[in-house]
Amino acid sequence: MRPEVLFPLFTPLTSVRGVGPKSAQLFKKIGISCPRDIVFHLPATGIDRRISENPSPQMLPGVVTALVQVTGHTEPRRKGGVHRVHLMIGNIPAQITYFRPIGRSFIAQHCAGGRFLVSGRAELFDGVFTWAHPDYLVAEDKAAAVPTFEPVYGATAGLGQKTLRSVAQNALSATPDLPEWIDPNLLRKRAWPSWQKAVQVAHNPTSLADLAADNIVRERLAYDEVFAHQLTLVLARQKSRSRPGRATCGDGQLRSAALAHLSFTLTGAQDRCVKEITQDMASDRRMMRLLQGDVGAGKTLVAVMSMLAVAETGGQAVLMAPTEILARQHAHSIATMLTPLGVDVGILTSRDKGAARTALMHRLQSGDLKLLVGTHAVFQDTVTFADLRLAIVDEQHRFGVEERMRLAAKGEAVDMLLMTATPIPRSLAMTQYGDMDVSILDEKPPGRRPVQTAVISLDRMEQVIERLRTALAAGQQAYWVCPLVSESELTDLAAAQARFEHLRSVLGEESVVLVHGQMPAPEKDAAMRRFQDGRSGVLVATTVIEVGVDVPNATIMVVERAENFGLSQLHQLRGRVGRGAKASFCVLLYQSPLSASGQRRLGTLRESDDGFHLAEVDLKMRGAGDVLGHAQSGLPRFQIADLERDGDVLALARSDAKTLLVQDPKLESARGRAAIILLWLMQHERSAQVIATG
Ligand code: ADP
Ligand code: MG
Repeated sequence: MRPEVLFPLFTPLTSVRGVGPKSAQLFKKIGISCPRDIVFHLPATGIDRRISENPSPQMLPGVVTALVQVTGHTEPRRKGGVHRVHLMIGNIPAQITYFRPIGRSFIAQHCAGGRFLVSGRAELFDGVFTWAHPDYLVAEDKAAAVPTFEPVYGATAGLGQKTLRSVAQNALSATPDLPEWIDPNLLRKRAWPSWQKAVQVAHNPTSLADLAADNIVRERLAYDEVFAHQLTLVLARQKSRSRPGRATCGDGQLRSAALAHLSFTLTGAQDRCVKEITQDMASDRRMMRLLQGDVGAGKTLVAVMSMLAVAETGGQAVLMAPTEILARQHAHSIATMLTPLGVDVGILTSRDKGAARTALMHRLQSGDLKLLVGTHAVFQDTVTFADLRLAIVDEQHRFGVEERMRLAAKGEAVDMLLMTATPIPRSLAMTQYGDMDVSILDEKPPGRRPVQTAVISLDRMEQVIERLRTALAAGQQAYWVCPLVSESELTDLAAAQARFEHLRSVLGEESVVLVHGQMPAPEKDAAMRRFQDGRSGVLVATTVIEVGVDVPNATIMVVERAENFGLSQLHQLRGRVGRGAKASFCVLLYQSPLSASGQRRLGTLRESDDGFHLAEVDLKMRGAGDVLGHAQSGLPRFQIADLERDGDVLALARSDAKTLLVQDPKLESARGRAAIILLWLMQHERSAQVIATG
């Protein structure tokens, strides 16, 4: 249960003075649905309204606050015209313009003459110093009413700064003081204020310096955010390791049989990784391991060998994939590999329903079925195993920490193997994974030829299509990716659909298939199957193929609007080709003109085939949130902290979280109880509950 002290922060937004049902809807648009969200919606910037003693045209355009002498007023000559208030700033003539009707009383009060304080954005208009619709115009004796500095919030249409400011103040006035979760020594050393003080100050900046990221107030709030996240990570790890692991040590028979049926041998790196994993499983320690390998490095086979090691002991293993397509592909290729050995593999997605699903459940429950491949559907509470010993999560950045916790809860002491093709820069790895063990697949299967990458303007698309035609005629296949880029998914789908129709008309009806996220699953499968079987040569897709599909005969990858992708994503897409022995190509189509940074990014991709290097470059150029792809990244979206900039705060929060949980594993001390409040405050409910239930 949420601690009572936080109740005022989690009541409906309409409980805040100034928020009605209508504006609550607008707040929702910017991600604000309770007073807590307002408190964490910090000003993005601010406006300095200190009075300029000598305003000069050099300051324009810009916000200017000045004492002025009003000298007169010109009414518009026709309806809808401009009102002008004439002024002198010292001896410089100036004016205020209004493009809408202004009331009689306003004119009487402000336009007749006298000394005023005006503040707002000004510019030179026809050579005259001009404020159009200033934010403030008040008589000199009321000048104190104009704040010298005002915060500016991220807003949305219909929600003005005035509303945001007053609502923030109202929310703050109901914000409780919370017990301190930060180590008192650290608090003193950094001179950080209390949490309540920090949010108060953060919303009432008095200068731009107060809004700087290295300001102590912001720093404290960034620390809180990262500290909560690190606590969750450490808890997740503790939870998975708290009960002793179980030694899972197969006799190797299924593994040797599987290898004997393969047409190739394991690469050195695969062999090493399989050893690391099976040794880890054989120990009585619980495994928490990340398998990191560039796209095409052969992670699936490593996963299969690990699963077989479990099956050899009579235990069960599950492989989780982020999409239906990928799950089915894994199930299919694993089945092909294991059928000769007489080992069954089941599949469970949200589509598997009815009698077949019931039968599958029984086989899992009885332990008759040893190996399962599935999607999120496996998380459901109704899915129970007789003896789940290993859970593998493919493309794991698509799953959050909490989902991993849920999976681990399905067995006695489930060993976890997380697989990722996104080589993750160190700073990110630390945030996301805490201190997991890592196996690195740093060698690609032999015989691969590097993929040639070309950066081409969309204007030359027809040439690219000709190229496709030739490749198709030679029996090769191609992907054509139409990204989801605009705000509206529908527009994007329409674009993909149009491209599909065009390619079909040029290359032949049967040759082209379309797959997109909104498609009913059976149609999606049918299209994928046509492509996998080679019946269709071109697969047009929105980014759903980004992860994992494996069609070795595909040699061309075309990505439209490549400038909108992150480098790591493009590298992933490119990794879909170059899997066979034939020369492969990646064509990055951009919409010209390509910005300088776009040129640099796509150029980097053309030059480098090193996923790790690309991820580092990406992080530098785009920032952490984007490196792993937006919402699906599973990476926490920090509101205040910035992973690159706040690296030292991150490291600090990490070691503090560990120390606290070593000293006070159940968070029972005063500081520990405060930390639980922090977890709730930061909406890490699940980890707060883990602590509560042990
Ligand atoms: P990823 O690491 O991207 O998941 P996959 O597991 O899909 O890579 O493997 C990519 C391709 O390489 C597959 O077609 C797979 O059959 C093949 N492959 C995997 N291991 C080897 C190997 N040791 N030798 C040759 N081909 C391999
Ligand atoms: Mg894969």
